[in-house]
Amino acid sequence: MKIIAGNWKMNGSRTGLNAMLCDLENVDTKNTVILCVPYTMLRAGNARVAIGAQDVSQHTHGAYTGSVSAQMVADAGAKYVIVGHSECRQYNGDTNSTVRQKAAQVLANGMIPIICVGETMDEKQAGKTMAVIESGVRESIPSDVGTPIIIAYEPRWAIGAGLTPTADEIAGAHTLIANTLSEMGLAGTPVLYGASVKGSNAAEIMSIPNVDGVLVGGASLKSDDFIPIITSVK
Ligand code: PEP
Repeated sequence: MKIIAGNWKMNGSRTGLNAMLCDLENVDTKNTVILCVPYTMLRAGNARVAIGAQDVSQHTHGAYTGSVSAQMVADAGAKYVIVGHSECRQYNGDTNSTVRQKAAQVLANGMIPIICVGETMDEKQAGKTMAVIESGVRESIPSDVGTPIIIAYEPRWAIGAGLTPTADEIAGAHTLIANTLSEMGLAGTPVLYGASVKGSNAAEIMSIPNVDGVLVGGASLKSDDFIPIITSVK
């Protein structure tokens, strides 16, 4: 069984989400399916699909105009929250430290954080891929994790670019993450791959050792693109 998580980014509508939930309800799969949507679309999912948010404040409540707390997201029906997505690191200045605080808020409110780590093109070209991934894992996970978490390896240079690393590169990154999690006492934590996943490459990517599922951006927006990914692995 794999985990297939969609990330709608700043796209979609409530009507569109309701339609996709209907489409997905009848899909024959044992895989876990999650849709991470903008705050305004948060609601409870259905028997087949869980709903997640795409970010959350590191603060519990108070004078943080424009921010949304983990408690609010849980109250709206979310079961998962992406934290540390590449775009939040790039545009909002999220660091491993803030990502760790956000993940702690998510856990404290009974949800599962999907903690993203991955290297930029500059870091890749400087030969720092493995160091960035390992420090991302070690520094972005709260120290007192007692409930499930999910890690997503997303090479930042490949997101939305139609590019994917080689199978060997993905295998190397996921093996490093699995070994690091094991050293941290978190063996068995699912690790997703994300960046330019589509129906035509999903099965191959999910056959790579230590790849427990995928985080899908652009190809999660339409049922016709997302369903083939969900059903690509039985
Ligand atoms: C993402 O936004 O997490 C992502 C993986 O995007 P895309 O699939 O479009 O590369």
